[in-house]
Amino acid sequence: MSEAVRPHPVSFSRVLVEDEPVLPVARLREGAGAPRTGCPFHDVRHMLREVGLRPTRQRLALGWLLFAKGDRHISAEILHEEAIKARFPVSLATVYNTLHQFTEAGLLRELAIDGSKTYFDTNPSDHHHFFLEGENNLVDIPSAAVEMERVPEPPEGYEVARIDVVVRLRPKRRG
Ligand SMILES: [Zn+2]
Repeated sequence: MSEAVRPHPVSFSRVLVEDEPVLPVARLREGAGAPRTGCPFHDVRHMLREVGLRPTRQRLALGWLLFAKGDRHISAEILHEEAIKARFPVSLATVYNTLHQFTEAGLLRELAIDGSKTYFDTNPSDHHHFFLEGENNLVDIPSAAVEMERVPEPPEGYEVARIDVVVRLRPKRRG
């Protein structure tokens, strides 16, 4: 894959790339004035560098799998399966480590739904979630759609870092 920055007219890429990946790097670069190259690997490399992570092969491959499909919520196990399917042999432990590094760097948000279920959100901005019980699926709720009437006063010496709302859904019972 060429590293050179090629001119990439929008109309041209729309014709050629049907599902153009939406990478967070596009958001990171807003204001920086740098055009996207249209090459996911190139964009992931940039994204990693911008948050101070060395673009190793593993981070590039997992970053590409994570971010090239737009905003989503994914578990380490599913990402591990995707990596194996993409013929990128990597251990589940490495997937966990990489996900935590990405989370610490602010590229992902970790969502602990139950003690045993952890999802990683490729959209790290403030928002809430519906959790579809039984389907183990998360759906975004815009942060403005949830109103907090009263937030308890945090203990002395602490401030509220973030409020995560998880609204649990189940199919309506027929009858
Ligand atoms: Zn989300």
